[in-house]
Amino acid sequence: MNRRKTRKIYVGNVPIGGDAPISVQSMTKTDTRDTKKTILQIKQLQKAGAEIVRVAVPDMEAAKAIGKIKKSVKIPIIADIHFNYKLALESIRQGVSGLRINPGNIGAQWKIKEVVNAAKENKIPIRIGVNAGSLPKDILQKYGHSSPEAMVEAASRHIDILEELDFSYIKVSLKASDVLKTIEAYRVFSEKYDYPLHVGITEAGPPPEGIVKGAIGIGILLLEGIGDTVRVSLTDSPVREVEIAYEILRTVGARKFGVEIISCPTCGRCEVNIKRMVTQVRKSLKNIKSPLKVAVMGCCVNGPGEAKEADFGIAGGKGQGIVFAKGEVIKTVKESELVFSLIEEIRKNLNNL
Ligand code: SF4
Repeated sequence: MNRRKTRKIYVGNVPIGGDAPISVQSMTKTDTRDTKKTILQIKQLQKAGAEIVRVAVPDMEAAKAIGKIKKSVKIPIIADIHFNYKLALESIRQGVSGLRINPGNIGAQWKIKEVVNAAKENKIPIRIGVNAGSLPKDILQKYGHSSPEAMVEAASRHIDILEELDFSYIKVSLKASDVLKTIEAYRVFSEKYDYPLHVGITEAGPPPEGIVKGAIGIGILLLEGIGDTVRVSLTDSPVREVEIAYEILRTVGARKFGVEIISCPTCGRCEVNIKRMVTQVRKSLKNIKSPLKVAVMGCCVNGPGEAKEADFGIAGGKGQGIVFAKGEVIKTVKESELVFSLIEEIRKNLNNL
């Protein structure tokens, strides 16, 4: 994966762009004014591995709640604001690490200037978030529809406003619910600018549609070297968004972490209960953060081969199975002892992982 060179910015202590690892973010789905629920959800996101979290700031009460939320969580918070410059200023006062606001929607020049000056003083970046569903009318008329080029022109308009105010601590996203349109918009933008990119497919829907759209859209972009931070959008728990984001990053080779389970779909040759074994293995290893490949295979046709490729593995047989470690057969045990023996073997080697 050859990453396109982008400028580096920081959201709190999290670097984005340049040579920084591609970071994972999500957005809370609680009412930001309900600080108890919002803090709880951010803590769940932290635990799942989210590195940045965005909260919606629809009014002044939500903006004022940020200070309290910030004190209780460890990851940087980005305030998501539409139109209202006062909400942006208050969010900055409350200590946010980034703003998501489109300068072209703020209104009078002096209001934009106030927000930009506050962002400069506090060294926080602004994300310009172009959404295909809300492009300016004149741009829509010019292109006839929300084409990738129209999306990039909308982004350029916002960028020009910030650059004229000598502000370039910018991150950009160009999202649509249409995967191919989104991919093309990011490609066109990347040819023109080197600002770091937040990538994702917006309004992707519930699982499984949302997962497939996010995986294909984000996956293709990352494989083309485009993207510095990702957000999977799902009509589901934000923790699920983070889990899927990490799976995408691991699949494209962008981040290495935790346990990857290789398991067969099972077929008529399978003589052990693979589904139950996979569930047991996943549960037993869920706290391991080091990169680890574990194979759980149904029979000796493909089983031993896959199990040998993994760091550890088991391959079932008739009432029994084989345990592998680092390419070597360790032992043959009864089916009822297979998972236990595998976990025991992994635990024995944990310090060397
Ligand atoms: Fe079937 Fe064996 Fe392949 Fe599993 S590993 S799908 S049981 S042939």
